[in-house]
Amino acid sequence: MTRDHLITCTRRIEFDAAHRVMQHESKCKQLHGHRYALEASFAARRLDKLGRVVDFSVIKKLLGGWINEHWDHTTILFDKDKALGKAIAGVTKQKIFYLPANPTAENMAEYVLKHVCPELFGKMPIECVRVRLYETPNCYVDIPQG
Ligand SMILES: [Zn+2]
Repeated sequence: MTRDHLITCTRRIEFDAAHRVMQHESKCKQLHGHRYALEASFAARRLDKLGRVVDFSVIKKLLGGWINEHWDHTTILFDKDKALGKAIAGVTKQKIFYLPANPTAENMAEYVLKHVCPELFGKMPIECVRVRLYETPNCYVDIPQG
């Protein structure tokens, strides 16, 4: 069945990470951590033969796998913040993920929508149409496609 409206499905993925926002006016310029919750919504014009946009487990495996490898229990820094990244990695040997922008919730969610999802799901008949990222239980951002 083809429909003239988008059907979406959303998967929630939680992870822990440290970050800091360079030049922040207040406390967020300090290195600190969050329990992030990312919700990625996918759309398809046509459901698969079982009646799904995509199986939820596929999103968990691909996007959850990417987050587990690159963001969970890491430090996420602006790529202009390499001095801090080198200092942390020099002591802890932990992985630093450098974002091409300040790691605000907005920039992190946009990175997932524009770079990560196309790379992971580009060959499938689905598209990531929105990424919502909770930085705290009370604060989240929405990045729509386009
Ligand atoms: Zn923060």
